[in-house]
Amino acid sequence: MRDILIQLAYLLAAFLFLIALRALGKPDTARRGMQLAAFGMAVGVVATLLNARIVSFEWILVGSLIGAVAGYPLGKWVPMTAMPQRIALSHALGALAATLVGIGEYYNGLSAGHLGRGHVMALGFEVLLGGLTVTGSLMAFGKLQEILPGRPLTFRGQNAFNLTILAIGVASLAWLVVDPTNVVAAGVMLAVSLAVAVLLVLPIGGADMPVVVSLLNSYAGLAAVATGFAIDNNILIIVGALDGLSGFILLVAMSKAMNRSFANVLFGAFGSAAVAGDGGSPGAGGEMAPISAEDAALRMAYADKVVVVPGYGLAVPQAQHQVRELADLIEKRGGEVRFAIHPVAGRMPGHMNVLLAEAGVPYDKLVDMEDINEKFAETDVVLVVGANDVVNPAAKTNPSSPIYGMPILKVAEARSVIALKRGRGAGFSGVENDLFVDPKTSMLFGDAKQSLITLGLEIKIA
Ligand code: NAP
Repeated sequence: MRDILIQLAYLLAAFLFLIALRALGKPDTARRGMQLAAFGMAVGVVATLLNARIVSFEWILVGSLIGAVAGYPLGKWVPMTAMPQRIALSHALGALAATLVGIGEYYNGLSAGHLGRGHVMALGFEVLLGGLTVTGSLMAFGKLQEILPGRPLTFRGQNAFNLTILAIGVASLAWLVVDPTNVVAAGVMLAVSLAVAVLLVLPIGGADMPVVVSLLNSYAGLAAVATGFAIDNNILIIVGALDGLSGFILLVAMSKAMNRSFANVLFGAFGSAAVAGDGGSPGAGGEMAPISAEDAALRMAYADKVVVVPGYGLAVPQAQHQVRELADLIEKRGGEVRFAIHPVAGRMPGHMNVLLAEAGVPYDKLVDMEDINEKFAETDVVLVVGANDVVNPAAKTNPSSPIYGMPILKVAEARSVIALKRGRGAGFSGVENDLFVDPKTSMLFGDAKQSLITLGLEIKIA
């Protein structure tokens, strides 16, 4: 009876996860999606605690307390700009749990003298993928947090070397399946799984880490599936499969939006010195035309149609509230304001949606790239707030540019453009941007948050 109850609860949890994933697909239902997923997780945890195989609750309680004490500040206080590294850290911890369960199960089986080949294969996958995710996620965390150098670290023959090490890991897994009690094979596999992720992440640039985190998300999901098979737990199999697949879909979507192949992200050393700027590199040939906050405000105050293009430079100073207040002021004066959302603006998928939703920008004002691109030609003023690559015309016009082919927001088609940025710094790709020297574009230099505040004050008196 208890088992049937547990399986029914797992079914309910799986159903909740599925509808949560669906709700997470749209900004206006995403919050409900998160709540449904959290409820599903609670159902799964409570059902698991009913399991008759639990011999003592003490350590579970200790673990839960440590998790809650560490998790609350992580969820509450980590700023949105640091979300990719926070997620990387969560993956590392989740994968560590899977790896430890795998090692524990292996030693239990070893000491009890019953280790079937199928069981060892599931445990092997769990430990291989889990270990790889632990160190890979910690590397991603270090690069994103700038504890480790963000530039790609490369050496001759690196890809061949890394693939050889990976092949040794897979071979030791095969060896273990053939001979389940061979602890040397188990040890080699564990060591390789921990080392190979460090080697694989080294040549990937810091700014590509969100893509790597998505890939590791997939691995963590697959490790959970393997754990589910190893310890005969259905919810782990279902949730792991959902996690693995959604991480993979996200990865494909991000690569597509950047027009870069998966292989280019993983092995292309994008962001290496040859490509990247130093953040202070000069703009494209030509002069940027500065504008005063007063003139910029006048232009926006009397515009009928304004489109705001937010980018990473909005996220850095956390200027989402100020941009919303500015939009409200323009609308009060009769202008129409919409926000153009590029799928990879910022540093993680949905970055701009989340920031603007936090500031209370209505969802119907957020317009996706495909839809807004048709509207730029009839737009009076485009306000670019800390966006660079996602509005760079070189993606369309310069076949030698590293971002050539990436879909962009066609800002240059608007009647006029005002760009807020601090100076002449390049974007993520390190390439120059002709938009900023286009005669249509005026530059309002300064920190985006401060510029938006000043623009708001000026519009009030315009
Ligand atoms: P971006 O190309 O990185 O440019 C950001 C711009 O913001 C910089 O040129 C910088 O210029 C400016 N800036 C920085 N701090 C600022 C501040 N406090 N105030 C005002 N301006 C500031 O940003 P993006 O246009 O959003 O493009 C995102 C890039 O990241 C794309 O290349 C994308 O492929 C990549 N990427 C995205 C994701 C994702 O999932 N979203 C994942 C991986 C990579 P100054 O230094 O002159 O101020």
